[in-house]
Amino acid sequence: MSNAENSPHLPIEDFRNYGYQLVDWLAEYFRSIDDKRILPEISPGDIRAMLPETAPEHAEHMEDIIADLDHVVMPGMAHWQHPGWFAFFPSGVSPVSVLGEFVAAGLATQGMMWSTAPAATEIENTVLDWLVDLLGLPSSWRIDTGPGGGVLQMSASDSTHLSLVVARHHAVEAGHPTDSLVAYGSEQAHSSIEKGARIAGFRHIRSIPVDASFCLNVDAFEKQIGLDLADGLIPTWVCSAVGTTSTTAMDPIRPIAAIARDHGMWHHADAAYAGSAMICPEFRHLQDGVELVDSYTFNPHKWLLTNFDCSVFWVADRSKLINTLSILPAYLKNESSGNPAAIDYRDWHVPLGRRFRALKLWFVLRSYGAEKLRSFVRSHVDWAEELENRLALDSRFEIVAPRTLALVCFRHVGGNETTKSLANAINASGTTYLTPSVIDDTDFIRVSIGSTWTERRHIEALWELIDMNGPPSEYHL
Ligand code: PLP
Repeated sequence: MSNAENSPHLPIEDFRNYGYQLVDWLAEYFRSIDDKRILPEISPGDIRAMLPETAPEHAEHMEDIIADLDHVVMPGMAHWQHPGWFAFFPSGVSPVSVLGEFVAAGLATQGMMWSTAPAATEIENTVLDWLVDLLGLPSSWRIDTGPGGGVLQMSASDSTHLSLVVARHHAVEAGHPTDSLVAYGSEQAHSSIEKGARIAGFRHIRSIPVDASFCLNVDAFEKQIGLDLADGLIPTWVCSAVGTTSTTAMDPIRPIAAIARDHGMWHHADAAYAGSAMICPEFRHLQDGVELVDSYTFNPHKWLLTNFDCSVFWVADRSKLINTLSILPAYLKNESSGNPAAIDYRDWHVPLGRRFRALKLWFVLRSYGAEKLRSFVRSHVDWAEELENRLALDSRFEIVAPRTLALVCFRHVGGNETTKSLANAINASGTTYLTPSVIDDTDFIRVSIGSTWTERRHIEALWELIDMNGPPSEYHL
């Protein structure tokens, strides 16, 4: 890069200095995050009002740009990395993943093909093969042995959409009209299932009832298939949720797989959140039968200390994926085209261009090692269990769904309004944030433990808030 005086670029020495300054800024952010108000006190439009209406015509000073992190960005931040963040599911990060992201941004390699990014491609092949073993998944999903293989994507929604596209492609190739294809998921499946199915052109999307534990009801699934067949429709795709968003319910993969196989359906597993927990062997029974699915997605960017975006998509037979997506125009042909050792990831998802996402994951897996990652996950599950026990022993509260991992779902026995008021009071503290949810007209509170900086003392503080704000009920002793 030129350092000549007339270069439009930031001089390399300035880049070095501002880079150090920004690392300091971020290090201070991580160090002091516990002291920040967890949600901003602003209204829609407040941040925009601080910004000029048009882009600058002339270059601005880096000092001014950096200063606006404090003046413009911070006032509008919902601090997902605050240790009192128990809302939604966690948005993973670690100092190490940030460093990997930083380097990947600077290298700015474009990984559409092996030939355009050999290191990025082979590191991605390798870390995803490592993860197959680390998570106890079928070794045939390893790219080095096949027939399966993994690819990094932006989000679990992308992976789910892709599995629907592959399923549709093969059903249509088999002679079934697109408008006869049916996709199935439980009533509790994530909205990305319906969205993906709609985008993939499915005209029939079935929400299957759940059982008392909010898992897909297999009898109801079979019954619906019978009705659809009777109507001349083609059961094509089904999703097993390995951890639903509302309650982390685990659909029974094995019986769903048997039905899917009988009807020649594509079976996808959505383990967006819960997949990270499979690094601990003691949780793998929750996805019993996983070796029978056709595809699987999970997000290291949720619970495996790797910042957004980093979502894994595995297929049990990669030829089905590649046959669906591969188009080789003359301008992309090169000497390695067709060489099985040179994976061209452009054939594995919708975008052509792709960034070096694997670098941060590689940094994380090496810097923590499996042992520390396991204890990270286990500590959250232990704290969730402790909180659940406290709530279960207190007659003011009731647990509304079986806890499988580090999500606790509870309500106040006083009913919906009392439960909502309790959630509002806790969130008003400014130190803690959790999200309410509703199933079958029953309001409840989700406590999702998984933020990078959360310690046991933050669960203690949360319990104090619940205890203090949970009004006595007529049952309370
Ligand atoms: N599936 C489940 C079970 C989820 O909980 C979520 C998000 O929380 C998603 C899919 C969507 O994930 P993404 O934001 O990576 O698309």
